[in-house]
Amino acid sequence: MTPRSIIPLRAVEETEQVSRTVAPPSGAPHADLSMSAVHAPAPLPANGKQFHIWTIGCQMNEADSAKVASLLQEVGYRQTASEDDADIVVLNSCVVRQAAEDKVAGKLGSLARLKRSRPDTRIVLTGCMVTNQQEQLRKRFPHVDLFFDPSDFDRLGLVVPELARLEDDLAALPHYYAPAADGLEPAEGYRKGVTAYVPIIYGCNFLCSYCIVPYRRGRETSRPMGAIVREVERLVADGVREVTLLGQTVNAWGHDLPAKQSLAELLRAVDAIPGLDRLRFLTSHPMYMTDDLFDTMAELPSLCEHLNLPVQAGDNEVLHRMRRRYTRDLWLERLGYARSRMRDLTVATDIIVGFPGETEEQFLQTYSMLEEARCEKVHLAMYSPRPGTLSARWEDDIPHAEKHRRHQALEKLQERIGTEINSARVGSTVEVLVEGKNKGRWSGRSRGNTLVHVDMDDEVDLLGQLVDVRITSAKPWFLIGEVAGTPARPESSSPRTP
Ligand code: SF4
Repeated sequence: MTPRSIIPLRAVEETEQVSRTVAPPSGAPHADLSMSAVHAPAPLPANGKQFHIWTIGCQMNEADSAKVASLLQEVGYRQTASEDDADIVVLNSCVVRQAAEDKVAGKLGSLARLKRSRPDTRIVLTGCMVTNQQEQLRKRFPHVDLFFDPSDFDRLGLVVPELARLEDDLAALPHYYAPAADGLEPAEGYRKGVTAYVPIIYGCNFLCSYCIVPYRRGRETSRPMGAIVREVERLVADGVREVTLLGQTVNAWGHDLPAKQSLAELLRAVDAIPGLDRLRFLTSHPMYMTDDLFDTMAELPSLCEHLNLPVQAGDNEVLHRMRRRYTRDLWLERLGYARSRMRDLTVATDIIVGFPGETEEQFLQTYSMLEEARCEKVHLAMYSPRPGTLSARWEDDIPHAEKHRRHQALEKLQERIGTEINSARVGSTVEVLVEGKNKGRWSGRSRGNTLVHVDMDDEVDLLGQLVDVRITSAKPWFLIGEVAGTPARPESSSPRTP
């Protein structure tokens, strides 16, 4: 079992780095996995062609892939789980870590073979690997037919004749090209069963010295509150029970809008949607975690008691060189306030080990901070320079073996902390939203975002249900339990403020 709380490939600030094929579910070889069920689509007739999408990176990339899938479905293509059957193969790339970039390069290499055997297959690369300077990419991957920026979906028309034929009549595709209006405005998110991810802000105004995201995703741009609320309303009406609001700096939402709104205001508006059981948001920057935002989290019934608050390092000098704009004490103080408002709060954070110049003493500061903070999850990454960033100009002077040693030391520490935290939960009852089956067991997440496996009679279908689970055993990265009942609706849940 892959430990959930130690994920070496981690988007610097946003979400875990995993490569995925956006594949149809078993038994539904060409099912529509996109958001189109949320709208009233008016697709072109099926044209017998197929597409395949491979995605690596954060949930923002997942959302972009869902948009591409929806767009291709609207013009008559069907999704296939295999690149070998596809007329168009789309790779959605990530370069936030060297390891992620290497995976994309490997995948592109294997597609060169496919292109040789099936020259008519169109290969498309999008995501953060694609910059304005595409000459180098063209030389390196000559078999790729199209490179396009994630914000420039119109360029897909260059390899999708059905799109090109629409020319100026793209408004015929209601999902992504129609002017915003009730029932016609674009969906930006994607769903997985009863859970959905909805981007609310794009880009980032911070310039952390190691991070490529602002160069690839641009400055912060918030979506209007009305569009977000209507999208969540449609998702809930379509059976979604849990929504996660996404952004590279999600808690910066609203400051760039004419009305200068705050994430707390948006959370209140989304929480008020009838039928929404759970609401989450990620990823937050510590500088924007205000008392008001924590107070709002504590008050709203659907808001889950989980905080994703990356810290990256526990030493102030390293934080300064990372351009993180806060100190170790400020991060710990924010955590302390959040815990004072939400008794059952769980915390996830991100750490980079082996940043240029990080001494042993500075690393031990990170170690001691994690011991003090006792986070439920720590997403660990070994530093790798990203060309174009400030820190890439500095010597990457920590040898790989030393980075690996520091990584392992924190992994071991977190395994101990995770064991202690989860062992204390044995005998308690937690609410679980069941998302699927894993090795014959139902599994889902608690409100605190802990993975919970549920022992249950095979006859009983728990998929998509909220159930109370009595915890019978614990591992560092997950819990195991048995159904104790069906929880009350969030409106009647017990008060969460201590
Ligand atoms: Fe996060 Fe900093 Fe990168 Fe912005 S620049 S996405 S705040 S790590």
